[in-house]
Amino acid sequence: MLFKNFAEFCNVVEKISSTIELASRVAALMKSAEDDEDLYNISLFLMGKVYPSWDERELGVGIGLIYEALENVSGIKKSKIEDLVREHGDLGIAAEKVLQNRAMVTLSSEELTIKRVREIFDEIAGLVGERSRKRKILLLTGLYAAASPIEARYLTRLILGEMRLGIGEGIVRDAISKAFNVPTDLVERAYMITNDLGKVAIAAKREGISGLKQIKVQLHIPIRMMLAQNAESAKEVLEEVQKVAVEWKFDGGRIQVHYGNGKVTVYSRRLENITNAIPEVVEEIKKCLSDGVILDGEVIAVKDGKPMPFQHVLRRLRRKHEIAKMAEKIPLKVYFFDIVYRNGELIDLPLKERRKHLEEVVKSGEVIKIADQVVTSDLNVIESIFKAAIDAGHEGVMLKNPESPYIPGKRGKNWLKLKIVRETLDLVVVGGEWGEGKRSQWISSFELACVDPTSGKLLNVGKVATGFTDEDLEEFTELFKPLIVRQVGKRVEFIPKYVFEVAYQEIQKSPKYESGYALRFPRFVRIRDDKDVDEADTIERIEQVFRSQFGEKK
Ligand code: AMP
Repeated sequence: MLFKNFAEFCNVVEKISSTIELASRVAALMKSAEDDEDLYNISLFLMGKVYPSWDERELGVGIGLIYEALENVSGIKKSKIEDLVREHGDLGIAAEKVLQNRAMVTLSSEELTIKRVREIFDEIAGLVGERSRKRKILLLTGLYAAASPIEARYLTRLILGEMRLGIGEGIVRDAISKAFNVPTDLVERAYMITNDLGKVAIAAKREGISGLKQIKVQLHIPIRMMLAQNAESAKEVLEEVQKVAVEWKFDGGRIQVHYGNGKVTVYSRRLENITNAIPEVVEEIKKCLSDGVILDGEVIAVKDGKPMPFQHVLRRLRRKHEIAKMAEKIPLKVYFFDIVYRNGELIDLPLKERRKHLEEVVKSGEVIKIADQVVTSDLNVIESIFKAAIDAGHEGVMLKNPESPYIPGKRGKNWLKLKIVRETLDLVVVGGEWGEGKRSQWISSFELACVDPTSGKLLNVGKVATGFTDEDLEEFTELFKPLIVRQVGKRVEFIPKYVFEVAYQEIQKSPKYESGYALRFPRFVRIRDDKDVDEADTIERIEQVFRSQFGEKK
């Protein structure tokens, strides 16, 4: 397929807001794909992805490189391109305008195909070392030289990972189901197991329902983690199920550990490969686990016998440099509580059977442990475990149905969490501002937004500038810099990727922000980089909190 056709498709669907209509358009495009490779690329590209999120490969191209490539191909100065970005609020449109107005036309004989774009992306992603920057610019320049203005718009957005088409996983899943006449829930199941909609699309196209059913959990490919719902009370839980498996709810970071053929791979809750961040844990895993397993657990930081606050764990999981030093400062322990694979898939077994497997494959040591579990129908037992967990510095307990299968990606009643209450909000970081004086080299305030689940839009609810240490700001500046899509004066806008937990004194009505609400005295608590943007708090939750405080005041 020509990239031109793909770009024209994007241009048409960009104006469509009906999700049903979008899904049928995408289905038609999928059906028109010439081969599996095109089908794979379309499925990912439409969502602004070049690789599945768990894949370690990434383009590593920020706006700086794009500016240089555009300057090379057009002769138009960077400052002019920045003006265009300011004017249109989008680097994609700016790139399109640049190509329309270029002084020199380096007509390329090459017509871009989707496959060619993929080839170049793969080469870019494979570049490392000092000279990679130059080579990346050269490759990008080549891409833009072969692109028409409209192709440049979508190429740019694809490189930045933000297509602005309103096409997310849900729509691509529905499109696969429509295009190849397979049930959506089977597509969803296959997706939760592979986390690669391109692969799922190919399986559905080739062998329909049976193709999807053949998709099984595989070593070193992460499956979506099973999630928990809030429980009102232990008493209520016991009214619904006769027996519950009670475990501590550890306050750390979720991990999925794959150990097979002597190799260890560790994924975070967002399915990022974090193996290299925790080398000392990886060594222990090799000593304590049987080969050929995938386990689910929580990694916590412990110092002097006490759990450290959970942001320390996340700081370790994010870490890319000076890992040994960090390992000394923040020592880790892992508590495994589930198993999904033992030389074959185990997800359909009930928890009580999986637990037996878990106990057989883990030899507990200083660092690696199995979470204690008590199966009970006695409220007093649950309460005493809850108290013990809180006393030990954890969050509460998990109450699990011993008869339930492991349902990847599902937040259901089979796992319930009982926590001590914390009145905070988890909000998406959508922008920020460079600081002043001592803090001028850091982004020192951050704009926050909640999610509107109906439209999928992010609605601003205010800014947070307190609660950060200098260390936090330095780290967040590094973290957010590559996500900058636009800068006007000191204000920057980010690709929404991270969620902050914030405390506040009150929620107020406010016409100043899109959400209609503002946080009074917001204070940063921690980064929730175990949470995806779509897991952040919704506008409904803000309204709910607002109403509840109103009730209190009355
Ligand atoms: P939350 O992040 O509040 O939605 O709570 C769910 C999270 O609790 C899971 O994703 C795990 O990271 C964590 N967790 C801690 N202990 C357990 C446990 N025993 N079983 C399951 N999840 C646990």
